[in-house]
Amino acid sequence: MSEPMNDPVTDLEPSTSPRFMEIATFMRAAHVADPAGLDIAMAGVPYDGGVSNRPGARHGPREIRNQSSFCRRIHHVTRIDPFALTRVADVGDVPFMNAHIPDRAMDEIEAFYATIHAAGAVPLTAGGDHSITYPIFRAIGAERPVGMVHIDAHTDTWDEWQGSKFNHGAPFRRAVEAGVLDPKRTVQIGIRGAQNFADGWEFSAEHGMRVIFMEEFAEIGVDAVIAEARRVVGDGPTYISFDVDGLDPVYAPGTGTPEIGGITTLEAQALLRGLRGLNLVGGDVVEVAPPFDPSGNTALVGASIMYEILCLLAESIDARRATDG
Ligand code: MN
Ligand code: MN
Repeated sequence: MSEPMNDPVTDLEPSTSPRFMEIATFMRAAHVADPAGLDIAMAGVPYDGGVSNRPGARHGPREIRNQSSFCRRIHHVTRIDPFALTRVADVGDVPFMNAHIPDRAMDEIEAFYATIHAAGAVPLTAGGDHSITYPIFRAIGAERPVGMVHIDAHTDTWDEWQGSKFNHGAPFRRAVEAGVLDPKRTVQIGIRGAQNFADGWEFSAEHGMRVIFMEEFAEIGVDAVIAEARRVVGDGPTYISFDVDGLDPVYAPGTGTPEIGGITTLEAQALLRGLRGLNLVGGDVVEVAPPFDPSGNTALVGASIMYEILCLLAESIDARRATDG
């Protein structure tokens, strides 16, 4: 399909207007309040009430929007132009009223994404800490649990900590318990770093998640990791969740819980491009913490990863449209 798809309401002419102009939105797409009529709704979740150590990811959406002005339309490898394939806009941030009460914040995130889901749009999110993915799954995985390609240094399948079940080490344990994430269609990639308790790793293993620790990643290489990820998630609905701490802190130092010995940006790009053709129903980039990112490079990395996922989502939606007629 080569006809431009974005309509005047959602078209910012990103190919012609200077990139330093205007109020920053994700990829310089239009800001629209109503997701009706959109194929892809890009949204921010400025929430870090789930962090266990260094806070700051609440500032992620704003800084990723700013750095995403570096992104252009046409992917240099795949030649995918997401704005030609789909209707894409920035629907703004979750409008928190109870950001300091974690269980209510989870409900507010779920309600926002339920509106996106009901409109028939696929969400692409900038966090926020990783606790935000659980309520997104409650919104989009209620009819059928989603599968997941999860890039992270941590499995995020730990339990309650410091009195909160909704900390950023627990979203995928909560999601499995709620029946909105299929653990047998979940692959966790880049896991590493010492822990004080082993029960998160054990939860993943006991529930049938495929966990690719960083040492296995290094040993088998990115092509084999892609093949394994594709085998695990199959052709069912699949979500991509990208915690920026899955990358080595050399590339993404601006994050709350960095772990050395991680994925390179080049490997991450190759990994994501290897996921073309999956049945994708959403994605996110989380844990960009601007207070620890004075150069802005972690936010640039986050925006660039978000663009890679945007291209994948657009191609997947276009393929479903062709199949469904
Ligand atoms: Mn995480
Ligand atoms: Mn992590």
